[in-house]
Amino acid sequence: MAVSFAHPLPWHEAQWRQVRAWAESGRTPHAVLLAGAPGLGKEAFARRLAHALLCTSPGAPDTPCGTCASCRMMGQGAHPDYVELTPEEAGKPLRVDAIRELTAHLALRSAMGRRKVVLIHPAEAMNRSAANALLKTLEEPQGESVLLLVSHVPSRLPATVRSRCQRLSFRAPPHGVAKSWLVGHLSEPGDADRFLKLSGGAPLAALAVARSEALEGMGKVEEGVSALLASQADPVAVAESWGKLGAAEVCRWCWHLGADAVRAWASKSRAGDAALKPAGVRPKPGKAADIRVLFEIMDFCLDSRRTLDAGISLSQPLVLDTLASLWARAGGERADGARFPEERA
Ligand SMILES: [Zn+2]
Repeated sequence: MAVSFAHPLPWHEAQWRQVRAWAESGRTPHAVLLAGAPGLGKEAFARRLAHALLCTSPGAPDTPCGTCASCRMMGQGAHPDYVELTPEEAGKPLRVDAIRELTAHLALRSAMGRRKVVLIHPAEAMNRSAANALLKTLEEPQGESVLLLVSHVPSRLPATVRSRCQRLSFRAPPHGVAKSWLVGHLSEPGDADRFLKLSGGAPLAALAVARSEALEGMGKVEEGVSALLASQADPVAVAESWGKLGAAEVCRWCWHLGADAVRAWASKSRAGDAALKPAGVRPKPGKAADIRVLFEIMDFCLDSRRTLDAGISLSQPLVLDTLASLWARAGGERADGARFPEERA
């Protein structure tokens, strides 16, 4: 992502304060768990922290000088005392071999005569044996090494690993902070609110939505959902049109559209109008989407994504068919001829 992280992100102030407090008390932890939802800039934070920890002439514990030999090597992505561990492919596990190599590396002397820094992300990608291997390193830290574990779902890490890390928690910033940052990075800032809403308020996730093909994917899912809610499309055809996006991606957007619709429902019902009119997703005029089905959709999306994230294979057509049928049902009527998966078997 072509975002400049030369400056700390504006919603990371509290976390940097914590880092400064560690440095000032001379107690920088051997392991830090950076935990929070995706899209909040945890990796950017961890890289900048690694940079600062390795800088040989830091002005402040959170600010690398940018000019020393160490900073120049970091800038070129070639620092001998810095290792970044990430799965070879997104969604694949981090295996024990990688952790064993890391342990061997940490046992060697630091090339620059200072500490070594390791960044593992996402830490929950470590399989059980990898996490166990890492635990040994956490129990017996080598020299001055610092391990930075970035995790979107820290509950998936063994408690023994979590308990040996100092935690830095990241949360979505207040809307105003997120929006003003996002607006500064968009060519068409008019959509900032919508992108933030679809990303649970996580600014970098919102930017990714705005920039990437994800936008195209979201448009396609939104289009299908709108047609289904209005009973203007056949669920089977819509499910087929979603095929190329992949079940995980469709589940992601459907969850957000569901959440968005529920929020809209809640605010409309407070206003005494039960009709659903979230951004781009609405049933026929005068009709209200079925709130129970909306929750069913969100649950289904979460369950499917959890299953997919755990590397368990799911029938993609079945997931897409089920989702399309659920949206048709949320639209308030079961379109003629709509074949729900359970009826086809
Ligand atoms: Zn430096």
